Amino acid sequence: MAKILIVEDEVKIARFVELELKYEGYEVEIANDGRTGLDMALHSGADLILLDIMLPGLSGIEVCRRLRLESEIPIIMLTAKDDVTDKVAGLDMGADDYMTKPFAIEELLARIRVALNRHTKRVAESEEKKDELSFGKLCLLLGRHAAYFGEDELSLTKKEYELLEYLLKNKNIAVTREQLLNNVWGYEYFGDTNVVDVYIRYLRQKIDDRFGVHVISTVRGVGYIIKDEK
Ligand code: CA
Repeated sequence: MAKILIVEDEVKIARFVELELKYEGYEVEIANDGRTGLDMALHSGADLILLDIMLPGLSGIEVCRRLRLESEIPIIMLTAKDDVTDKVAGLDMGADDYMTKPFAIEELLARIRVALNRHTKRVAESEEKKDELSFGKLCLLLGRHAAYFGEDELSLTKKEYELLEYLLKNKNIAVTREQLLNNVWGYEYFGDTNVVDVYIRYLRQKIDDRFGVHVISTVRGVGYIIKDEK
C-alpha cells in the first residue's frame, strides 16, 4: 500500500487525516513544519504528499517548489478557505491538486487515489518510452516485442521481430548475413545463409510493400542495413 506524508502544523487535522488514511490501509508519516516536511519528502520514500500551505519554517509553496526541483512525487496542497492566490501559487509550483479546508475526508481519499493512479501511469509511460526504438514511423516496443508502423501493429513472427530489432539497433551499420544468423538465430554459421534472405523478404513484404516505404536496404556483397535518409 502507498505511503503518504502529511505535512501539516495543525496537529488535530494531521491526526485526523492520519487515522482516516491508516483506516484505508495507507502507511502514514507526519511532519509538523516545512523544513522537516521537505526533508522527509526527499528521503522517506513517500508516494504522495499532503502539503499544507501555511507552515512554520518553510511555507508549503516553498516546499513544493524545492521538491519539484528533484521529484515528481504527487503533491496535494491543503489550503485555507477561499485563498485563491495560494491555490494558484501551489499549482504553479507543480502541485497536482489542492483541497480547501475544511474538507470531506471522502473527497480527499478520492483525490489521493486519482493522483496516485495518474502518477503510476505517468511512470509506466515514461518507462515504456525508454524502451522504444524508432525509425521514421516504424516503432518497436522492446519490452513487449511489438512493432508498429504508425498506428498499425505489424504482425511479425518472433524471428522477424528479432531480425528487425537487430537491424534497428545497428542502424546505419551494414550487418552481414553471418552476423544476423549468429545474433538472431543464435547458432554458428555453417552453410546456408539463405534463411536470412528469406526472412528479410518477409519483413519487406510486411513493412516496405504494405506501407510503400523503403526501410531495409541491401548492401551488395555484405548484407543488410537500415539507414537514415541523408
Ligand atoms: Ca497550517
